Amino acid sequence: MSEPAQDRQRPLAVFDIDGVLADVRHRLHHLQSRPQRWNAFFLAADADPLLKEGAARLRAAQAKHDVIYLTGRPERNRALTAAWLAAHGLPTEPLHMRPDDDFRPARWVKRNTLRRLARTHTIASVLDDDPAVVAVLSADGWPVELATWLPHSSTLQSAQEQQGRT
Ligand SMILES: [Mg+2]
Repeated sequence: MSEPAQDRQRPLAVFDIDGVLADVRHRLHHLQSRPQRWNAFFLAADADPLLKEGAARLRAAQAKHDVIYLTGRPERNRALTAAWLAAHGLPTEPLHMRPDDDFRPARWVKRNTLRRLARTHTIASVLDDDPAVVAVLSADGWPVELATWLPHSSTLQSAQEQQGRT
């Protein structure tokens, strides 16, 4: 019997979801309306098209690394997010999400989580589409790459950075 993969402690390849794997553009209009429709924005995530480039990167990373997700989506969307990942043939966990009561900008939430993970794992790579997140995580010393296949939305940027909502 070979050793289970999860016991081998392979380095981690860290993937953001929105804008890296999931195309969020069809639901941004919920955030452009006033008042913003947050529940509708999140509930529509099950219809996000898969971003092929991100999915290809993830599958390539699985050869040498343990893939984990680090998303600004709140915990209350865990079931919906896992179902979407499964529907696209992607692993559903480990899935690190924003606590429901945590409204800090995504970059600080993600930095905290990454620092915690780094106590027990080597961080091989981080892929995120938010330039503000990439800047903070790079400054923290992590090997971060900016995903550029979906132009980062100014609407989502505002939601993540000023409102701490996604
Ligand atoms: Mg993103």
